[in-house]
Amino acid sequence: FLSIKGLAKSFGENSVLKNIDIEISRGEVLSIIGPSGSGKTTLLRCFNGLELPDKGIIRFEDGQHLDFEGKISKQDILQLRKKSGMVFQSYNLFPHKTALENIMEGPIIVQKRNKTEVRNEAERLLEKVGLKDKLHFYPHQLSGGQQQRVGIARALAMKPELMLFDEPTSALDPELIGEVLTVMKELAQENWTMIIVTHEIQFASEISAKVLFMDAGYIVEQGTPQRVLKSPKEQRTKQFLERIL
Ligand code: ATP
Repeated sequence: FLSIKGLAKSFGENSVLKNIDIEISRGEVLSIIGPSGSGKTTLLRCFNGLELPDKGIIRFEDGQHLDFEGKISKQDILQLRKKSGMVFQSYNLFPHKTALENIMEGPIIVQKRNKTEVRNEAERLLEKVGLKDKLHFYPHQLSGGQQQRVGIARALAMKPELMLFDEPTSALDPELIGEVLTVMKELAQENWTMIIVTHEIQFASEISAKVLFMDAGYIVEQGTPQRVLKSPKEQRTKQFLERIL
């Protein structure tokens, strides 16, 4: 579905991503783990053009091919952005819009879709994430877990091919984490293609086809959860897992 080759990104002198290679198949869940500052968020943002890599190739099964050493047009970035829905750590909902309005905004304003159709779809999505009775609530009237579920519904409303999650539960109180992970698990069961940056190792192990461990801008190792999390080869992976488990 998606292949990344030789991706690199620096911020000034700070080389944040180094020679990243990743393959992901359609319907597969890939989890990215690693210490703070290792480049996980930056990598995720490269997948949807929120950050532009300095070099490397992103290639999609549908034929889209981006070589960041060459010239990248606005059109290329737009096309890249359309493919994925992003769920942020801090939800990023519009504070003055209700749950329903938050979800309808993108499909109506950006995709110019029919309002009635979008509204029906938004209601269905809120029901899917267990918020059928909160359609007209504003973000401040919702718990963190509820806000994040609106965030997920909002990303789904754009009908992306790929869902990107940037530490979606790390801002939540422990008792609210489960409700968000449950929604994500359902998406995985529905065969959404998902890339998840997470510190929830147990969760990553349950739902991922592949886990990727990053440190200091490198992919230290990647493979099945069993391989990377239960019998890591690299010392750095072992140390990281010992520290957080
Ligand atoms: P965390 O788990 O803490 O979110 P991370 O693994 O996601 O960390 P990144 O957020 O990708 O790490 O950051 C990697 C490095 O890139 C850090 O050193 C950070 O300071 C730097 N960085 C990230 N974004 C920018 C930016 N816009 N400008 C300059 N430096 C940045």
